[in-house]
Amino acid sequence: MSRITPERIRNIVLVGHGGAGKTTLAEAMLFRAGAVNRIGRVEDGSTVLDSDPEERERGSSLSLALAQFEWRDHKINLIDTPGFPDFIGEVRAALRVADMAVFVVSAVEGVEVQTEMIWRMAEELSVPRMVFVNKLDRERASFERTLDDLRERFGAGVAPLELPIGIESSFHGVADLLTDRAFLYDDGNRSEADIPDEMEELEHRVHDNLVEGIVVADDALCERYLEGEKISLEQLEKTLTAGIIDASVFPVVCGSATGPIAVDRLLDLVCEVGPSPIDRPGDTVIAAGEEITVAPDPNGEPLAFVFRTIADPYVGHVSLFKVISGVVNADDQLVNTRSSVVERLHGISSLRGSEQTPVDQVVLGDIAAVAKLNDTMSGDTLAPRNKPVVVPPIRWPEPVLWSGIVARTQADDDKLADALHRLLDEDPTLRLERNDETHQMILGGLGETHLRISLERLQRKFGVGVDTEDVRIAYRETITSAAEAEGKHKKQSGGRGQYGVAFLRVEPLERGGGFEFVDAIVGGAIPRQFIPAVEKGIAETMESGGVLGFPVVDVRVTCYDGKYHSVDSDEMSFKMAGRLGFRAACENADPVLLEPVSRLEVTVPSEQQGDVMGDLNARRGRVQGTDTAPGGEQTIIATVPAAELLRYAIDLRSISGGRGRFTVAHDHYDTVPTNLVDKILAAQEE
Ligand code: GDP
Repeated sequence: MSRITPERIRNIVLVGHGGAGKTTLAEAMLFRAGAVNRIGRVEDGSTVLDSDPEERERGSSLSLALAQFEWRDHKINLIDTPGFPDFIGEVRAALRVADMAVFVVSAVEGVEVQTEMIWRMAEELSVPRMVFVNKLDRERASFERTLDDLRERFGAGVAPLELPIGIESSFHGVADLLTDRAFLYDDGNRSEADIPDEMEELEHRVHDNLVEGIVVADDALCERYLEGEKISLEQLEKTLTAGIIDASVFPVVCGSATGPIAVDRLLDLVCEVGPSPIDRPGDTVIAAGEEITVAPDPNGEPLAFVFRTIADPYVGHVSLFKVISGVVNADDQLVNTRSSVVERLHGISSLRGSEQTPVDQVVLGDIAAVAKLNDTMSGDTLAPRNKPVVVPPIRWPEPVLWSGIVARTQADDDKLADALHRLLDEDPTLRLERNDETHQMILGGLGETHLRISLERLQRKFGVGVDTEDVRIAYRETITSAAEAEGKHKKQSGGRGQYGVAFLRVEPLERGGGFEFVDAIVGGAIPRQFIPAVEKGIAETMESGGVLGFPVVDVRVTCYDGKYHSVDSDEMSFKMAGRLGFRAACENADPVLLEPVSRLEVTVPSEQQGDVMGDLNARRGRVQGTDTAPGGEQTIIATVPAAELLRYAIDLRSISGGRGRFTVAHDHYDTVPTNLVDKILAAQEE
């Protein structure tokens, strides 16, 4: 093929619910295009796209994968994505560089939850969309039911371009509603024919759907259609193309990825009406603090957007990028506008699964991989040094599930920090935090599978073994009444003596009041220079744990009297006196346990609001209010003890059938109900 031009590039991403057939469809496309000599099967791990051992073992995609191939004089950059909600970050990254999303929907299961979630995401990013109704060869497949489902959820712009010919085991072709032609498949060979007579009635009905789906994109045309005018094929095709580009018309085609049936037609359609990078409105960038739009100009300044990095233990980082302006050449030097590091782009290559072929130039709109950048992560921009614009980074989903992690052996521990660092570079939806109060390292991610796979990768890629443990809650304690006590430190038998006495009064402060120390010593009962030592002794005890063994907060301590010895008193003695006195006073001041309480915002479809609220009640939650969210959803705002939310990501998924989402943030500390205190203390002893 001659040098590729932007007009002939198609960046498409396959998205949808897990199991709908995305990876199989991608493999079928590669096969059809002659890039592989058989269709890879997810069952036996023979796919080109799911190349990670973790993916092959599970038979499902865990990260996005890029395959580049040619189809009828076009270059197709195909991105296959995982359908599991734990890996939604991958979908978000892919949608940022795709010029069209192809939703793969199973004709057996219909529109499933993840499909809806991703549709919403694509809508938000204004990505053009089309639908491939797959698995029409399977038992209980129904195109009409799936189409109704699509129209109901995604509106009038859903435009069926094809109808299946035959169904289930007799499915063998598709009828093109625009051209009135049938395309029949026999063992991979395609022939053309008239549409069978018995399909006429259905064809008419669905044809109306098609015309309606297309004309919605053009108000004037829509009016003419409603007034009874017959819209010409030419006009329909023109409106269809424009409607796809501005994401108001969503063509629906059908087929079977395993067949393969009509996969070639899908590719044809992508080339004929799918937007090329220069059809899109261009990217918004920030230049010198101001938002501007960079037109997709093949002769513009070179600008590349990195949407994915892969940490390879041998090669180092491999970054996938899309050129959003100008041309990027091998050996160019561009600046990373986040890290300000100048990156030299040697080793640019195109990709098919994990296979790489070197290239020397990447034109506008094209996607390629580059190895060994020094400080570049997913979501970064590479720009000319004198024009360091920034493409807004990818909005990664926040972690929702956390797990405590500990290195398995000392050798693992030595390598852990570095390996985790590399893992986090590769996956921006992972987060690592250290809780100094509970002395625990915690890893956050988007679900159980996400965390498990990440730790498997840590082992496989970097040879670091890690065990998981429950997340420890940062309990604290405080007092609820005032009390006084004497703290006396005396050691005067033999050698140099130690002597110090401090009389302390403790009083509760408001939540969040912290620690107040009042020096009420008069007449030199404790010499001035030793008073800070008393305070220090108290502060140390507060930090290391009070009567119940947890850090003490929200107390005022008044040191109102004391005794000293002119020779034996020293700083150490008064520090000890502070410690002892504080502890003794707290014991008499009705100590209570405090727990962190989070502010939770849960968004679910309205009909699930009752279930979610009932569940929050059972978690000792207090609903603060509700809000109507767009798309018939409700947001419930509540405060809930953090201890009750440790597995909320998993539980909400099952309560809401995967439709719910939530954010959580620390809010305040509150007293633990007495009936739970013993249980918590017993668990801490273990
Ligand atoms: P993904 O999770 O969307 O990538 O789905 P996969 O490509 O992993 O496919 C899930 C399962 O559906 C696999 O067992 C495929 O062999 C099967 N499958 C995919 N497409 C078809 C199809 O068109 N017909 C039939 N009968 N099975 C299919």
